[in-house]
Amino acid sequence: RVISPQTTSAQEEQLERALRPRALIDYIGQHKTKEQLSIFIQAAKIRREALDHTLLFGPPGLGKTTLAHIIAHELGVNLRQTSGPVLERAGDLAALLTNLEPHDVLFIDEIHRLNPVVEEILYPALEDYQLDIMIGEGPAARSVKIDLPPFTLVGATTRAGMLTNPLRDRFGIVSRLEFYNNTDLTTIVARSAQLLKLQIDNTGAAEIARRSRGTPRIANRLLRRVRDYAEVKYQGQINAEVADAALKMLDIDQSGLDVMDCKYLEAILYKFAGGPVGLDNIAAAIGESTDTIEDVIEPYLIQQGFLQRTPRGRMATELSYSHFGLPAPSTKA
Ligand code: ADP
Repeated sequence: RVISPQTTSAQEEQLERALRPRALIDYIGQHKTKEQLSIFIQAAKIRREALDHTLLFGPPGLGKTTLAHIIAHELGVNLRQTSGPVLERAGDLAALLTNLEPHDVLFIDEIHRLNPVVEEILYPALEDYQLDIMIGEGPAARSVKIDLPPFTLVGATTRAGMLTNPLRDRFGIVSRLEFYNNTDLTTIVARSAQLLKLQIDNTGAAEIARRSRGTPRIANRLLRRVRDYAEVKYQGQINAEVADAALKMLDIDQSGLDVMDCKYLEAILYKFAGGPVGLDNIAAAIGESTDTIEDVIEPYLIQQGFLQRTPRGRMATELSYSHFGLPAPSTKA
């Protein structure tokens, strides 16, 4: 899926790293989050304390990992990175925590997927900078307390609602990342194009931005695909027309919806008469996991007004009907 907000290959990850802004000032958009973080980071530095534990949530590809790296950079400390599903045993987390330097940042991506046993030992570490672990088994087992340096946990998750309450309560700073507006996304495309030394004018950057589902990761990916097209057909020159032709070839429609989005909306419209329909039913109808639907497909469709979530299920909106050239339900015969 060209438009999938998850990274898909090692090569893409490498390119992403190259395009990642390093300082807060270069991080485009997300003004509220940036302003808050800037103040909290400065305050922590003045007091010579570790920054409060910070939770970043929002759909994939909006810049949570980037922001975690920026936080460490601005604090002038190291960042250790891991993810929820990787930390299988308590010892995995203990090894990471005991290797931290004072005020370091520990970044845990997909923190909602932590093993409950690992999550348990995270609580005292977050609250009192203390590890409380059991060594050995059976009668010989004993509990050991280890002091940890003060550190900052930065957790990232696609949905804050998936965190357990005790874990969520231990974050002093909670920031929700929003989809980017066209202006900010155009700036991101222009910045990436400059780093990749591409010839693109404003109309080209704006066209790619407009069709990137409000997501920088997708914008950067589409930029690279448009570059391929432009290099083969237009000596590398990218403008709105070239971008439009390339995006059409990739089956990304005028609203930036891709094949999966259309399949999802069409299922609701045609198979379920516009809804309301339950998540499990749509998932079965289009052969996608409920997680992907909730994390990746739906947030943008809801934000753009194509979809409504009601207590009785998902419903297509008037915009959806008109997008697919159907009469709105009220005017249906
Ligand atoms: P997430 O962790 O939320 O999935 P990432 O932090 O990995 O997202 O961001 C994906 C890509 O988007 C990165 O390579 C980065 O270059 C780009 N990006 C994200 N946010 C911004 C931003 N505010 N300004 C510029 N580029 C950004």
